[in-house]
Amino acid sequence: MLIEKGKWIAVLGGGQLGKMLCESAKRQGYKTMVLEPSKAACAALEADLHLAKPYDDKESLVYIAKNSSVVTYEFENVPSESIDILEENGGYIPQGRRPLYISQHRFREKSSINNLGIKTAEFRAVTDKESLKKAVEEIGYPSILKTSMGGYDGKGQWVLRNKEDFEKAVAELSDREYILEQMVDFQCELSCIAVKSTDGSVGVFPVVENIHKNGILHITIAPARISEEVQEKVKEITKKIIEGLNFVGPLAIEYFYGKDGEIYVNEMAPRPHNSAHYTMDGCDKSQFDLQIEGICGKHLEDPKLIKKSVMLNILGQDVERIEKAELRANEKLYMYGKGEAKTDRKMGHLNITGENLEELIKRAEELAK
Ligand code: AMP
Repeated sequence: MLIEKGKWIAVLGGGQLGKMLCESAKRQGYKTMVLEPSKAACAALEADLHLAKPYDDKESLVYIAKNSSVVTYEFENVPSESIDILEENGGYIPQGRRPLYISQHRFREKSSINNLGIKTAEFRAVTDKESLKKAVEEIGYPSILKTSMGGYDGKGQWVLRNKEDFEKAVAELSDREYILEQMVDFQCELSCIAVKSTDGSVGVFPVVENIHKNGILHITIAPARISEEVQEKVKEITKKIIEGLNFVGPLAIEYFYGKDGEIYVNEMAPRPHNSAHYTMDGCDKSQFDLQIEGICGKHLEDPKLIKKSVMLNILGQDVERIEKAELRANEKLYMYGKGEAKTDRKMGHLNITGENLEELIKRAEELAK
């Protein structure tokens, strides 16, 4: 369905991703409403209407269903009952609940990728000591135990290198689902985001390289410093996944490029992604532009990299320093307007664009010190 300018787009979730989505929607001529319980939600700074209610608040969801032309989301933990209420009341949510159902759960996520004939690290479901013991026997060390649901930025993960780590992990097991995953010996971490429109067309962004610090994304390098052949292969896999799973909307996929030359999917998210913030300055269209275009039924093509870019995440502990730094013309700072600058909280990002990737990386590291 083609959604015309002037119509209302509703966004479930009102963090920085929602804020940047609303900003793009506004630039494209739409009005935006956001459902986000926190009164201090940063998306409220951009949205035309902020419904400060829980994600499953029936009254707000009925209001959204009746007063918006299309609904999208900016985080993967939207309760599935919320989607039910929207649909029962005539709301149009083209992405539906399947991308959430699959990406919310690591076992389902990896199985659905393997079913398309695409590689992930080997993994086993774990629920208790017995199943963990069996999984370690089959996968071996080093491996990583991850909670199947609810972990992010490396939280809910235990690295197992020996029997001692195994015993420690056993002591921490609680009554929930986990997976044990083989540790991939990687050359680098990559990601690629694609968006599928409701008209069936797909736009795939360039492949980027990600460097994490303490489990949190530190910098993104665009394009990734790998051969064009491998970049093309990662783009093809990304397209195969979004089409194979029959998703609509954005799908960000994180990969390991193994020392063995293989490409392994790590995880995916059906929403805008931190590693694609560089697209706001480095590409002819941003990830937010494409998500809005996709849910509004426009025809999509692969966005182009117009400038080499490095994105630096600004965490709570970096705010004071970055605000004092003398930024150059090729450096654009995005602060999200969040409240307290807590340690490790994502407060903003800086996009640095130019010609020489190594110099951009050096400058990002300088500003990060
Ligand atoms: P995740 O939350 O699954 O994205 O994991 C956070 C980070 O932990 C990744 O970006 C990797 O740096 C590391 N990691 C997670 N799983 C693996 C794995 N199977 N092999 C190697 N490193 C991993």
